[in-house]
Amino acid sequence: MKKLAYCAAMMIVIVILLPLLIVKGCGHPTAEKPPEGTITGSELKISVYDTISNTSSIMNLEDYIKGVVAAEMPADFDMEALKAQAVAARTFAYGRLTGVYQSKQGVHDGITICTDSTHCQAWISKENAMKKWNIFFSARNWAKIEKAVNGTKGMIVVYKGNIANTLFHASSPGRTENNEDVWSGTAVPYLRSVESSGEENAKGYKTSIIISNAEFVEKLKKAYADYKFGEDIFKTIKILGNTEGGRVKSLKIGDTTLTGTQFRTLYKLRSAAFSIKKNEDGSLKITTTGYGHGVGMSQWGADSLAKKGATYIEILKHYYTGVDVISINEYAAKSGVQ
Ligand SMILES: [Zn+2]
Repeated sequence: MKKLAYCAAMMIVIVILLPLLIVKGCGHPTAEKPPEGTITGSELKISVYDTISNTSSIMNLEDYIKGVVAAEMPADFDMEALKAQAVAARTFAYGRLTGVYQSKQGVHDGITICTDSTHCQAWISKENAMKKWNIFFSARNWAKIEKAVNGTKGMIVVYKGNIANTLFHASSPGRTENNEDVWSGTAVPYLRSVESSGEENAKGYKTSIIISNAEFVEKLKKAYADYKFGEDIFKTIKILGNTEGGRVKSLKIGDTTLTGTQFRTLYKLRSAAFSIKKNEDGSLKITTTGYGHGVGMSQWGADSLAKKGATYIEILKHYYTGVDVISINEYAAKSGVQ
Protein backbone atom coordinates (compact mmCIF):
# COMPACT_ATOMS: atom_id res chain seq x y z
CA MET A 1 0.00 0.00 0.00
CA LYS A 2 2.89 2.28 0.88
CA LYS A 3 4.43 1.41 -2.44
CA LEU A 4 1.19 2.29 -4.24
CA ALA A 5 1.05 5.70 -2.52
CA TYR A 6 4.65 6.33 -3.52
CA CYS A 7 3.90 5.41 -7.14
CA ALA A 8 0.85 7.70 -7.15
CA ALA A 9 2.95 10.57 -5.79
CA MET A 10 5.58 10.00 -8.47
CA MET A 11 2.90 9.96 -11.18
CA ILE A 12 1.65 13.35 -9.98
CA VAL A 13 5.19 14.73 -10.17
CA ILE A 14 5.80 13.33 -13.66
CA VAL A 15 2.40 14.09 -15.21
CA ILE A 16 1.56 17.45 -13.62
CA LEU A 17 4.46 19.17 -11.92
CA LEU A 18 7.31 18.36 -14.34
CA PRO A 19 5.57 19.78 -17.47
CA LEU A 20 4.78 22.94 -15.48
CA LEU A 21 8.45 23.38 -14.64
CA ILE A 22 9.48 22.77 -18.26
CA VAL A 23 6.95 25.31 -19.58
CA LYS A 24 8.13 27.90 -17.05
CA GLY A 25 11.74 27.30 -18.07
CA CYS A 26 10.87 27.92 -21.76
CA GLY A 27 9.18 31.26 -21.13
CA HIS A 28 10.33 34.35 -23.06
CA PRO A 29 13.02 36.37 -21.35
CA THR A 30 11.74 39.69 -20.08
CA ALA A 31 14.64 41.68 -21.50
CA GLU A 32 16.09 41.30 -25.01
CA LYS A 33 19.47 39.62 -24.86
CA PRO A 34 22.21 41.89 -26.26
CA PRO A 35 24.11 40.50 -29.24
CA GLU A 36 27.48 38.92 -28.69
CA GLY A 37 30.37 41.33 -28.58
CA THR A 38 28.44 44.19 -27.04
CA ILE A 39 30.67 46.85 -25.57
CA THR A 40 30.61 46.23 -21.85
CA GLY A 41 33.23 48.71 -20.73
CA SER A 42 33.29 52.44 -21.29
CA GLU A 43 30.77 53.66 -23.84
CA LEU A 44 32.14 55.41 -26.91
CA LYS A 45 31.45 59.13 -27.31
CA ILE A 46 31.35 61.21 -30.48
CA SER A 47 31.46 64.96 -31.08
CA VAL A 48 28.65 66.07 -33.37
CA TYR A 49 28.21 69.42 -35.12
CA ASP A 50 24.52 70.22 -35.68
CA THR A 51 24.38 72.24 -38.89
CA ILE A 52 20.80 73.37 -38.23
CA SER A 53 21.29 74.83 -34.74
CA ASN A 54 24.96 75.66 -35.42
CA THR A 55 26.00 74.01 -32.15
CA SER A 56 28.20 71.06 -31.30
CA SER A 57 27.90 68.50 -28.54
CA ILE A 58 29.38 65.25 -27.25
CA MET A 59 27.04 62.29 -27.56
CA ASN A 60 27.05 58.65 -26.65
CA LEU A 61 27.76 56.85 -29.95
CA GLU A 62 24.72 54.58 -29.66
CA ASP A 63 22.40 57.53 -28.91
CA TYR A 64 23.84 59.38 -31.89
CA ILE A 65 23.14 56.36 -34.14
CA LYS A 66 19.45 56.43 -33.10
CA GLY A 67 19.22 60.00 -34.42
CA VAL A 68 20.93 58.97 -37.68
CA VAL A 69 18.54 56.06 -38.29
CA ALA A 70 15.56 58.33 -37.52
CA ALA A 71 16.82 60.87 -40.06
CA GLU A 72 18.10 58.51 -42.74
CA MET A 73 15.41 55.83 -43.00
CA PRO A 74 11.59 55.79 -42.80
CA ALA A 75 10.61 54.28 -39.43
CA ASP A 76 7.99 52.08 -41.09
CA PHE A 77 10.70 50.11 -42.88
CA ASP A 78 11.21 46.50 -41.82
CA MET A 79 13.14 45.95 -38.56
CA GLU A 80 16.03 44.17 -40.32
CA ALA A 81 16.42 47.08 -42.78
CA LEU A 82 16.54 49.51 -39.83
CA LYS A 83 19.18 47.32 -38.19
CA ALA A 84 21.25 47.28 -41.41
CA GLN A 85 20.97 51.07 -41.51
CA ALA A 86 22.07 51.31 -37.88
CA VAL A 87 25.17 49.20 -38.56
CA ALA A 88 26.04 51.14 -41.74
CA ALA A 89 25.64 54.45 -39.87
CA ARG A 90 27.69 53.20 -36.89
CA THR A 91 30.46 51.97 -39.18
CA PHE A 92 30.57 55.35 -40.94
CA ALA A 93 30.75 57.17 -37.59
CA TYR A 94 33.33 54.78 -36.15
CA GLY A 95 35.46 55.22 -39.27
CA ARG A 96 35.52 58.96 -38.51
CA LEU A 97 36.09 58.41 -34.79
CA THR A 98 39.15 56.27 -35.39
CA GLY A 99 40.45 58.62 -38.10
CA VAL A 100 40.36 55.88 -40.75
CA TYR A 101 38.09 58.15 -42.79
CA GLN A 102 38.18 61.92 -42.54
CA SER A 103 35.64 64.54 -43.47
CA LYS A 104 36.41 67.35 -45.86
CA GLN A 105 38.60 69.83 -44.03
CA GLY A 106 37.45 73.33 -43.13
CA VAL A 107 33.80 72.54 -42.44
CA HIS A 108 33.89 71.36 -38.83
CA ASP A 109 37.56 70.93 -37.94
CA GLY A 110 37.99 69.41 -34.50
CA ILE A 111 34.46 67.96 -34.50
CA THR A 112 34.16 64.35 -35.64
CA ILE A 113 30.92 64.42 -37.59
CA CYS A 114 28.16 66.78 -38.74
CA THR A 115 24.45 66.41 -39.39
CA ASP A 116 24.56 67.42 -43.07
CA SER A 117 23.78 64.35 -45.18
CA THR A 118 25.78 65.69 -48.13
CA HIS A 119 28.92 66.12 -45.98
CA CYS A 120 28.70 63.42 -43.27
CA GLN A 121 25.36 61.75 -42.50
CA ALA A 122 21.94 63.05 -41.52
CA TRP A 123 20.89 63.17 -37.87
CA ILE A 124 17.77 64.37 -36.08
CA SER A 125 17.15 64.83 -32.35
CA LYS A 126 14.57 62.58 -30.69
CA GLU A 127 12.44 65.65 -29.98
CA ASN A 128 12.39 66.75 -33.63
CA ALA A 129 11.87 63.20 -34.90
CA MET A 130 8.81 62.84 -32.65
CA LYS A 131 7.43 66.11 -34.04
CA LYS A 132 8.10 65.00 -37.63
CA TRP A 133 6.07 61.80 -37.23
CA ASN A 134 2.31 61.45 -36.97
CA ILE A 135 1.42 61.82 -33.28
CA PHE A 136 -0.27 58.40 -33.25
CA PHE A 137 2.90 56.64 -34.42
CA SER A 138 5.71 58.76 -32.94
CA ALA A 139 6.21 56.75 -29.73
CA ARG A 140 6.03 53.46 -31.62
CA ASN A 141 8.46 54.73 -34.29
CA TRP A 142 11.06 55.82 -31.74
CA ALA A 143 10.74 52.54 -29.83
CA LYS A 144 11.29 50.68 -33.11
CA ILE A 145 14.44 52.67 -33.91
CA GLU A 146 15.77 52.14 -30.39
CA LYS A 147 15.18 48.41 -30.80
CA ALA A 148 17.08 48.38 -34.13
CA VAL A 149 20.05 50.25 -32.64
CA ASN A 150 20.10 48.33 -29.34
CA GLY A 151 19.75 45.03 -31.19
CA THR A 152 22.95 45.73 -33.17
CA LYS A 153 24.84 47.55 -30.41
CA GLY A 154 28.52 47.94 -31.23
CA MET A 155 28.31 46.04 -34.55
CA ILE A 156 30.23 47.38 -37.56
CA VAL A 157 31.13 46.31 -41.11
CA VAL A 158 34.73 45.35 -41.87
CA TYR A 159 36.48 44.22 -45.03
CA LYS A 160 39.49 41.99 -44.42
CA GLY A 161 39.65 43.33 -40.88
CA ASN A 162 39.52 47.03 -41.89
CA ILE A 163 36.60 49.36 -41.22
CA ALA A 164 34.52 49.53 -44.40
CA ASN A 165 33.38 52.77 -46.00
CA THR A 166 29.69 51.96 -45.72
CA LEU A 167 28.22 54.32 -48.29
CA PHE A 168 24.49 54.13 -48.81
CA HIS A 169 21.79 55.79 -50.91
CA ALA A 170 18.00 55.92 -51.09
CA SER A 171 17.10 53.80 -54.11
CA SER A 172 18.57 52.14 -57.18
CA PRO A 173 17.14 51.33 -60.63
CA GLY A 174 17.66 47.56 -60.39
CA ARG A 175 21.39 47.58 -59.58
CA THR A 176 23.81 49.54 -57.42
CA GLU A 177 26.98 51.15 -58.79
CA ASN A 178 30.68 50.36 -58.84
CA ASN A 179 32.31 53.18 -56.84
CA GLU A 180 34.78 54.05 -59.62
CA ASP A 181 31.91 54.57 -62.09
CA VAL A 182 30.53 57.36 -59.89
CA TRP A 183 33.66 59.02 -58.53
CA SER A 184 37.19 58.96 -59.85
CA GLY A 185 39.57 56.69 -57.98
CA THR A 186 40.36 53.03 -57.71
CA ALA A 187 37.80 50.26 -57.41
CA VAL A 188 36.90 49.38 -53.81
CA PRO A 189 36.41 45.59 -53.61
CA TYR A 190 33.30 45.76 -51.43
CA LEU A 191 31.62 48.63 -53.32
CA ARG A 192 30.64 46.59 -56.38
CA SER A 193 27.53 46.79 -58.51
CA VAL A 194 24.97 44.28 -57.21
CA GLU A 195 21.33 43.54 -57.95
CA SER A 196 18.87 45.73 -56.06
CA SER A 197 15.28 44.96 -56.89
CA GLY A 198 11.79 45.62 -55.54
CA GLU A 199 12.27 49.37 -55.15
CA GLU A 200 9.55 50.60 -57.52
CA ASN A 201 7.40 51.84 -54.62
CA ALA A 202 10.12 54.19 -53.36
CA LYS A 203 8.98 57.80 -53.11
CA GLY A 204 9.93 59.65 -56.31
CA TYR A 205 11.38 56.48 -57.85
CA LYS A 206 10.65 57.86 -61.33
CA THR A 207 10.71 61.64 -61.53
CA SER A 208 10.64 64.02 -64.50
CA ILE A 209 11.80 67.62 -64.65
CA ILE A 210 11.62 70.17 -67.44
CA ILE A 211 14.62 72.39 -68.14
CA SER A 212 14.32 75.30 -70.56
CA ASN A 213 16.80 75.67 -73.39
CA ALA A 214 18.13 78.92 -71.89
CA GLU A 215 18.67 77.42 -68.42
CA PHE A 216 20.29 74.31 -69.86
CA VAL A 217 22.79 76.30 -71.94
CA GLU A 218 23.50 78.85 -69.22
CA LYS A 219 24.35 76.26 -66.56
CA LEU A 220 26.49 74.25 -68.95
CA LYS A 221 28.52 77.23 -70.16
CA LYS A 222 28.96 78.57 -66.64
CA ALA A 223 30.22 75.28 -65.23
CA TYR A 224 32.40 74.39 -68.21
CA ALA A 225 33.52 77.80 -69.45
CA ASP A 226 36.67 76.43 -71.07
CA TYR A 227 34.84 73.79 -73.06
CA LYS A 228 33.59 74.11 -76.62
CA PHE A 229 29.99 73.05 -77.12
CA GLY A 230 29.32 74.42 -80.62
CA GLU A 231 26.38 76.55 -81.68
CA ASP A 232 23.30 74.37 -81.41
CA ILE A 233 24.11 72.65 -78.12
CA PHE A 234 20.68 71.17 -77.73
CA LYS A 235 20.76 69.06 -80.86
CA THR A 236 24.12 67.53 -80.08
CA ILE A 237 23.27 65.83 -76.76
CA LYS A 238 24.00 62.13 -77.03
CA ILE A 239 24.18 59.49 -74.30
CA LEU A 240 27.29 57.41 -75.02
CA GLY A 241 26.85 54.48 -72.68
CA ASN A 242 25.70 53.13 -69.33
CA THR A 243 27.50 51.85 -66.25
CA GLU A 244 27.12 48.31 -64.94
CA GLY A 245 24.64 49.73 -62.45
CA GLY A 246 22.44 51.12 -65.25
CA ARG A 247 23.23 54.83 -64.85
CA VAL A 248 24.54 57.07 -67.61
CA LYS A 249 28.31 56.60 -67.76
CA SER A 250 29.00 59.46 -70.18
CA LEU A 251 27.26 61.74 -72.59
CA LYS A 252 28.46 63.99 -75.35
CA ILE A 253 27.39 67.59 -75.77
CA GLY A 254 29.02 69.27 -78.75
CA ASP A 255 32.66 68.20 -78.66
CA THR A 256 32.60 67.74 -74.91
CA THR A 257 32.15 64.52 -72.98
CA LEU A 258 30.66 64.66 -69.48
CA THR A 259 30.22 61.80 -67.02
CA GLY A 260 26.69 60.95 -65.92
CA THR A 261 27.60 62.09 -62.40
CA GLN A 262 28.85 65.48 -63.67
CA PHE A 263 25.59 65.96 -65.56
CA ARG A 264 23.59 64.86 -62.51
CA THR A 265 25.41 67.35 -60.26
CA LEU A 266 25.06 70.20 -62.77
CA TYR A 267 21.28 69.90 -63.08
CA LYS A 268 20.69 68.62 -59.53
CA LEU A 269 19.13 65.39 -60.79
CA ARG A 270 17.96 62.77 -58.28
CA SER A 271 19.98 60.08 -60.00
CA ALA A 272 22.46 59.51 -62.83
CA ALA A 273 20.01 56.93 -64.20
CA PHE A 274 18.31 59.37 -66.56
CA SER A 275 16.86 59.68 -70.03
CA ILE A 276 16.57 62.91 -71.98
CA LYS A 277 13.73 63.85 -74.28
CA LYS A 278 13.86 66.97 -76.40
CA ASN A 279 10.52 68.77 -76.45
CA GLU A 280 9.27 70.67 -79.48
CA ASP A 281 9.25 73.96 -77.57
CA GLY A 282 13.00 73.63 -77.06
CA SER A 283 12.89 72.48 -73.46
CA LEU A 284 14.33 69.22 -72.15
CA LYS A 285 12.43 66.59 -70.23
CA ILE A 286 14.80 64.62 -68.00
CA THR A 287 13.41 61.51 -66.32
CA THR A 288 15.39 59.92 -63.48
CA THR A 289 15.02 56.51 -61.85
CA GLY A 290 16.09 55.97 -58.24
CA TYR A 291 17.60 58.49 -55.85
CA GLY A 292 21.17 59.07 -54.76
CA HIS A 293 24.69 58.21 -55.93
CA GLY A 294 23.93 54.50 -56.14
CA VAL A 295 27.01 53.17 -54.33
CA GLY A 296 26.79 50.69 -51.43
CA MET A 297 23.54 49.83 -49.68
CA SER A 298 20.26 50.92 -51.22
CA GLN A 299 17.86 51.75 -48.38
CA TRP A 300 14.72 50.80 -50.32
CA GLY A 301 16.49 47.69 -51.59
CA ALA A 302 17.39 46.81 -47.99
CA ASP A 303 13.74 47.11 -47.03
CA SER A 304 12.73 44.93 -49.97
CA LEU A 305 15.26 42.24 -48.95
CA ALA A 306 14.12 42.43 -45.31
CA LYS A 307 10.50 41.96 -46.37
CA LYS A 308 11.59 38.81 -48.20
CA GLY A 309 13.07 37.50 -44.93
CA ALA A 310 16.73 38.59 -45.06
CA THR A 311 18.47 39.41 -41.78
CA TYR A 312 20.41 42.66 -41.33
CA ILE A 313 23.69 40.75 -41.70
CA GLU A 314 22.49 39.18 -44.97
CA ILE A 315 21.42 42.63 -46.22
CA LEU A 316 24.80 44.18 -45.38
CA LYS A 317 26.68 41.26 -46.96
CA HIS A 318 24.57 41.60 -50.10
CA TYR A 319 25.33 45.28 -50.61
CA TYR A 320 28.95 45.25 -49.39
CA THR A 321 30.69 42.44 -51.25
CA GLY A 322 32.89 40.14 -49.15
CA VAL A 323 32.51 41.97 -45.82
CA ASP A 324 32.10 40.71 -42.26
CA VAL A 325 29.90 42.15 -39.53
CA ILE A 326 31.78 42.17 -36.21
CA SER A 327 31.71 44.10 -32.94
CA ILE A 328 33.76 47.21 -32.23
CA ASN A 329 35.28 45.26 -29.34
CA GLU A 330 36.50 42.56 -31.68
CA TYR A 331 37.84 45.13 -34.15
CA ALA A 332 39.57 47.10 -31.40
CA ALA A 333 41.16 43.96 -29.90
CA LYS A 334 42.54 42.90 -33.28
CA SER A 335 43.71 46.31 -34.47
CA GLY A 336 44.99 47.68 -31.16
CA VAL A 337 42.58 50.66 -31.25
CA GLN A 338 41.73 51.97 -27.79
ZN1 LIG B 1 30.43 66.85 -41.90
